Amino acid sequence: MRLLEAIIDANNRAVAGDQDAGLHPSEFAEELPIVALTCIDPRLNPLFPQVLGVLPEQFIWLRNAGNIITGPTSSTMRSLALACAVKGGKEIVIIGHTDCLVGKTTTMQLLERLRAIGVERHALPDNINEFFGIFSSERQNVIKATDIARHSPLLGPKIPIHGLMVDVQTGKLEWIVNGYQALDMMSTRWNEVVQSAGQTMDALKSLTDFNIGEMKFPETKIGEVVTKTEDWLSNQVKKLEIKKPVPVPEALAAAPPKIPLPPPIRPRVILRKGSVK
Ligand SMILES: [Zn+2]
Repeated sequence: MRLLEAIIDANNRAVAGDQDAGLHPSEFAEELPIVALTCIDPRLNPLFPQVLGVLPEQFIWLRNAGNIITGPTSSTMRSLALACAVKGGKEIVIIGHTDCLVGKTTTMQLLERLRAIGVERHALPDNINEFFGIFSSERQNVIKATDIARHSPLLGPKIPIHGLMVDVQTGKLEWIVNGYQALDMMSTRWNEVVQSAGQTMDALKSLTDFNIGEMKFPETKIGEVVTKTEDWLSNQVKKLEIKKPVPVPEALAAAPPKIPLPPPIRPRVILRKGSVK
């Protein structure tokens, strides 16, 4: 079982009342610490990291209003990249929450409230919603943020990026974007790209006296970012004046599971002994 599978399993069992639901963090030493991006809502303060069942020292917590990622190189993206590169984060979870006020505030309300704190309309950009990243669906916001992060040049292909929702009443987690699937798919895509590149070059070799020796594969491993590969490929193809479009895989969004509402219990996922270094 991989880290997030174990986390979701333990969380959901704890919410359902299983007193023994828990994690063995020592089994996931290679997959921790985990990096979480959540909203600033104070109702989340007592929930984390307990609902994930990881120790506080294994939990890197980024927060912004609405757990929004506005762009692939935005400030939040830079922090996520540094959380992995500098602080050793192994997996990223973007966790939206139920009843998010950022998602419930209309443009007019936002303008009124900004004005109430002394910010006039003319001081703000034209497109307020886009500027603040205001959303109407918490789930869609998580899917969007996960998608932007997955395609960000600041994160390599070794970091799974998951999308979750947490219920602020019960602490129940719901896994809506599976970052493992996206990585597996990129790896498959990479193999296809490499294979088709090889076929293209074989065909060329037999047809022309083109100097294949000048064409070198990029020094990347299987599983590297597909877009990077495709950029490299498209450059090669352009040089050869051959049009060979390579489709970019769609972002993965798992269908939300239908789970009956649990009783209102805040799960405290148990930490097993021998888990701390
Ligand atoms: Zn919120």
